[in-house]
Amino acid sequence: MIPADAPATVAVVALGANLGEREAALRGALDALDVVDGVAVDAVSPVATTRPVGGSDQPDYLNAVALVRTGLAPDELLAVLNRVEAQFGRVRLERWGPRTLDLDLISYGVVQTGTEVVSDDPRLTLPHPRAHERAFVLVPWSQVQPDALLRTPGGAVRLVRELAEAAPDRADLEPADVGPLR
Ligand code: ATP
Ligand code: CA
Ligand code: CA
Repeated sequence: MIPADAPATVAVVALGANLGEREAALRGALDALDVVDGVAVDAVSPVATTRPVGGSDQPDYLNAVALVRTGLAPDELLAVLNRVEAQFGRVRLERWGPRTLDLDLISYGVVQTGTEVVSDDPRLTLPHPRAHERAFVLVPWSQVQPDALLRTPGGAVRLVRELAEAAPDRADLEPADVGPLR
């Protein structure tokens, strides 16, 4: 849902789940986001299955990327993402450990139109400071938006699909045996 008069900005949200009913968590999160006032889910990538990066021995992730339109400010959108995570009972004991649902704000605004937000605030770093090296973000993102661009921490703007091919964890990712989320 998005109010018709909202000045909509495009944002990219990465979804991950590696505990419990993973597919249900992704579907539920997208539905929950879409009903928020000021947020509309426009497009969703295919689902990938990925071996977890870091942390202890833990189950594989299901990952996907959603393109959303939003009238919310970046910090408001992050608060929505945190609320949806809580709604799905996110439980985690260690950083990078397993969790029922992780929603990261990858980018807010569009490089091409000069509306991109760049921030080094640790509470909300934009673009997400590790997205450029993560196949589980880059591959699904390039599938749902083949011409997507991402500003890397060094400041260079790169094609997401090229970053995806070069990502160190590219071999840890496969298409998941999961139907379209939307
Ligand atoms: P990673 O950020 O490496 O993917 P993580 O998702 O496991 O790790 P969390 O524990 O979910 O990390 O979040 C840690 C903190 O990151 C949160 O308190 C949040 O405020 C902050 N943060 C900074 N930038 C972002 C962003 N772009 N998207 C989501 N959270 C962010
Ligand atoms: Ca994350
Ligand atoms: Ca997170």
